[in-house]
Amino acid sequence: MAIERIVIVGGGTAGWMAAAALSKLCAKRKVAITLIESEVIGTVGVGEATIPPFLDFNRLLEIDEREMMAAVQGSFKLGIQFVNWGRQGDSYIHPFGAYGYQMEGISFHHVWHKYRTAGDPRPIQLFNMETMAAFFGKFARTEDYQRDDLPPVNYAYHLDAGRYARYLRAYAEKRGVVRVEGKVADVSLDGSSGFVTSVSMDDGAVHQGDLFIDCSGFRGLLIEQALKTGYEDWSHYLPCDRAVALPCVREDGSGPLPYTRATAHSAGWQWQVPLQHRNGNGHVYCSSFMDADEALDILVRNIAGKPTAEPNHLRFVTGRRKKFWNKNVVALGLAAGFMEPLESTSIHLINTGINKLIALLSLDGITPVQEAAFNRLTGKEYERIRDFLILHYNATTRDDSDFWNYCRTMAVPDSLTEKVELFRHNGQIFREDDELFTETSWAAVMMGQGIMMGGHNAMAEALSEPSTGKELDAIQQSIEFVAQHMPMHGDYLARYCPAA
Ligand code: FAD
Repeated sequence: MAIERIVIVGGGTAGWMAAAALSKLCAKRKVAITLIESEVIGTVGVGEATIPPFLDFNRLLEIDEREMMAAVQGSFKLGIQFVNWGRQGDSYIHPFGAYGYQMEGISFHHVWHKYRTAGDPRPIQLFNMETMAAFFGKFARTEDYQRDDLPPVNYAYHLDAGRYARYLRAYAEKRGVVRVEGKVADVSLDGSSGFVTSVSMDDGAVHQGDLFIDCSGFRGLLIEQALKTGYEDWSHYLPCDRAVALPCVREDGSGPLPYTRATAHSAGWQWQVPLQHRNGNGHVYCSSFMDADEALDILVRNIAGKPTAEPNHLRFVTGRRKKFWNKNVVALGLAAGFMEPLESTSIHLINTGINKLIALLSLDGITPVQEAAFNRLTGKEYERIRDFLILHYNATTRDDSDFWNYCRTMAVPDSLTEKVELFRHNGQIFREDDELFTETSWAAVMMGQGIMMGGHNAMAEALSEPSTGKELDAIQQSIEFVAQHMPMHGDYLARYCPAA
């Protein structure tokens, strides 16, 4: 059956990202795109930190960065600072760019380790542009400095989720997406194929479709409630199941930091996402070890300013749908699954879900092979991210609460155990299945949380000297020079994309 009508259920970040992308790509084809959302139900209202591949989504849409950043009162993000994870009092940055660069095909952390073991005291962070710029509270884009000897600055955005959805809505409506306001009350299935044929609104209106995109949030209106797809629960690995969000205005006159901060507490962790006009804050916690009042109390005591809204309490179960694409329904966003925002991966998964959907989509119809490929690839993506998140909880020496005792001693997937053991052995990190996180990401979190390389790749010993040593010095000096000469992040924003 040809695809002539696409119905998107849900108008949060997932729904409007899907609508914007499909409206751009189907512009010259005869496909009617409808998006249904309910103001009464509303959106989850959080989800403001992104990671670098998000820039590609905006490029695909040919969105002007300055215009978008001004509209969403966004700020730039160079990485994530983790506080109190390996031990209380510890702090490290997981940067978006690489440590140094490959030398004669050998990853930089091996070269660094060779020097380190020979007595060079310099921490690896000195060889990373994003970490150094973050340390000074600075920001610039690669285009702003002309240096051939340095890698590009890798960055992402902090954005106001509500404003971003409104921005994409304007984009999508301009390209023909029809928005329907109201509540979906019923879903009809075809008796023989089991495909969804239409959704009915509580005012009686019926919207028929050939392909449905379920962006209805945690409830999974089509993928779960109608198609009973099933859910794989990962709470035993990632036990946090609650969050409370509380934005605030910064009262100390400080500008927005160019990074997200994730501070571990006794039964979870707190995020701080700096926007131009406020900080987004929230406390993710585990209800088996902490109640809602205590979680809110900890959050209120640790935010950098005055709250601008009532606390938003949220519940979730970490895991994923057994299928993300089932018959003629593709689930994106919270309807597809959820992993806590420790590494800001949810919006990224919406983005990659859309990319795969676009790549697989044929307007001639839907085949089981498309469904199978989408599910296999997405499943792997979820698992790789899951392992990386588990690492943050498991690689700790914290024993100050029952929560941390559980996380430190819990069983972890074999895939993660192998990764950690290889790193401990000689610093080897294999990226598998096109996984999102880079060697630097894994190395930053492992070393940041106390997992040290026991040795390095034997090939590092064969690097020519003294040229390698001189190269190391040059990298460090160039990074330090550029980072020091970048403008403060707040000044950069005020000049480049002041709030509209
Ligand atoms: P929602 O925002 O819940 O939207 C669901 C939509 O469906 C709404 O428009 C609603 O009206 C509509 N709907 C539902 N039922 C019906 C119905 N019956 N009829 C009509 N319409 C209906 N992600 C990140 O990448 N970075 C982060 O920093 C981050 N932080 C997070 C913090 C927390 C605590 C949580 C819970 C999530 C976080 N996320 C983060 C995830 C991020 O918020 C979501 O991925 C993103 O907002 C997409 O949500 P959504 O569009 O899938 O769902």
